[in-house]
Amino acid sequence: MEIVQLSALKDNYIYMLICEETGMTGVVDPTSAEPVLKWLKDNNKKLDCIFNTHHHWDHIGGNKKLQKKFPNCEIVAPASEMERIPDIDLPVFDGYGVRLGQCRAVVIEVPGHTTGHVAYWFEKDNALFCGDALFSLGCGRMFEGTPTQMWNSLKKIRNLPEETQIYCAHEYTEDNAKFAETIETTNPLLKKYHQRITKMQSENISTIPSVLAIEKAINPFLRCDHPSLKQAIGMPDSTAEEVFAEIRARKDNF
Ligand SMILES: [Zn+2]
Repeated sequence: MEIVQLSALKDNYIYMLICEETGMTGVVDPTSAEPVLKWLKDNNKKLDCIFNTHHHWDHIGGNKKLQKKFPNCEIVAPASEMERIPDIDLPVFDGYGVRLGQCRAVVIEVPGHTTGHVAYWFEKDNALFCGDALFSLGCGRMFEGTPTQMWNSLKKIRNLPEETQIYCAHEYTEDNAKFAETIETTNPLLKKYHQRITKMQSENISTIPSVLAIEKAINPFLRCDHPSLKQAIGMPDSTAEEVFAEIRARKDNF
């Protein structure tokens, strides 16, 4: 599968997915139709499928216009969001298999940012499209879920193979790195990675995708059950859920 990253608004990423065997083309979370239509035109493709991770407008904003232009294009979205995402053709839930030509993905429910949030895991392609559930060095704000729910979602992602590429929906990495350094002040890998992404951003290079192995080592939100992190924030005896709630609250006020 070929994956192409498009930018939208200030810091959104839209992903074009192309099955190399069949030419079938999909898009993940079209913020708006325009960048997608331009890419399709420039590359002489039509759109077969829209994958939505959750109901927020900056993830589904392009659905309507894209489906109007390509009436056979299917909207794949969480089954629990039928009322908030219009015109879903294929409602999906945890463990459901979806395909784009010969490319297959498994749906993973990752509630917390919103109640009906899903991620699409293309195992053979080592690619996870996780919307606003997990960001590089951060995670989504908890708009609708509970800390326990969100922590469980992040653990599901953490259990995927280490080489999984994390295609999240926003370029927040540099801000997230600044926050992460306030939590684990002595994590040497975090410092190095921060320098690396600062350089990338100064050259206008995207820091996404990230790799799960790196996130597991330096993303504080994936490390709430690590004794060293608990110690670092003065909560050595707290549960992972309590630690998650604490650092999520700190990030909200950062
Ligand atoms: Zn969102």
